Amino acid sequence: MIEHSTSIFAEMSNLAIQTESINLGQGFPDTDGPQEMKDTAERCIQEGLGNQYPPPHGLPALRHAVAVHQHRFYGLTVDGDTEVVITTGASEALQSAVLALIDSDDEVIMFEPWFDVYAAAISLARGVRVGVPLVGPGLRPDLDRLADAITPRTRMILLNSPHNPTGIVFTRAELQVIADLAITHNLIVLSDEAYEHLWFDEHQHIPISTLPGMFERTVTVGSGGKSFSFTGWKIGWASGPRHLISAVRVVRQHLTYVSGGPFQYAMAEGLALPDQYFTEFRKGMSERRDVLSAGLDELGLRVIPSQGTYFLTTDVTPLGFTDGLEFCRQIPERAHVVAIPHQAFCDDDSIGAPYVRWAFCKQIPVLGEAVRRLQSLV
Ligand SMILES: *Cc1c(COP(=O)(O)O)cnc(C)c1O
Repeated sequence: MIEHSTSIFAEMSNLAIQTESINLGQGFPDTDGPQEMKDTAERCIQEGLGNQYPPPHGLPALRHAVAVHQHRFYGLTVDGDTEVVITTGASEALQSAVLALIDSDDEVIMFEPWFDVYAAAISLARGVRVGVPLVGPGLRPDLDRLADAITPRTRMILLNSPHNPTGIVFTRAELQVIADLAITHNLIVLSDEAYEHLWFDEHQHIPISTLPGMFERTVTVGSGGKSFSFTGWKIGWASGPRHLISAVRVVRQHLTYVSGGPFQYAMAEGLALPDQYFTEFRKGMSERRDVLSAGLDELGLRVIPSQGTYFLTTDVTPLGFTDGLEFCRQIPERAHVVAIPHQAFCDDDSIGAPYVRWAFCKQIPVLGEAVRRLQSLV
């Protein structure tokens, strides 16, 4: 699956360049985050703050800012000294947690389609990935299949909400079923909350660690890149109970040791921004979602409503295609737009086959132009 997905991403990026396409395949914003965070990073470099190795588990100011943020938004009490680790993006937090907490042949259950980093992390830990599909017209988690997938070798459930690539946000009821299973079977939950500040409408993000009995078995991962539109800075974090975070810290220390000193100061400032920043961030992104959703819907694609993230998913079968990969191979030539088929996020191609992921974290005129170009398909 890793080679398979890497080759799809590479193929689509190459097609984007060859055909001078608008690239709605790649998930990064085309506008930067808050100016004051840039100013802080710059000032830190000039004043010599963080230009040499920062402390191994992250700058205390940032660890404490993460703890304060978890309390402010979710009511969680986290000790910034012992229950937080700063990482090179959410990616390294996920990789470190899997390497720290999985032994070879342990099974890790994830909902399929999944973010591609997970499969690589589990392979590197010599674990076994077990997929449970998102099903039905709204692509919701199949919780009966989840219960059936648990075996004596299951060690972890790897959760992602708001969810990439589908754009769904897990409901409290869904999270409660997952929590009950984790408690009954004594499983660790690794919760990728990279899009915690990108949920839309009434679909509020709920960290699974806030459910009763869950904090002590959950490692929660955040991404400064996603929350503040600085994906190139690669600052992320993991938080959770001391016995899990201390294991993650040991692995992470041997991966990159430390990262991005001046950026860590700027991220601490970002986490403390007033509520208005977070509200406007969501509002701006949901307006982009609306533009792309309406445009693709008008073309006749079935749009699965996006409740969060940078992405929305469409079913391409109403336009006469049976296969998302085939669709994504054709549209750069025919319409000069690039998207990513869900097959890039699946072991089981039949789960992803009808679906395509579109990124809407782009300026509204760019989205409008993409929709205009796609009209040549119909
Ligand atoms: C982008 C992304 C990440 C990685 O975040 P970084 O902070 O850039 O490492 C992790 N999980 C999901 C679901 C993502 O989309």
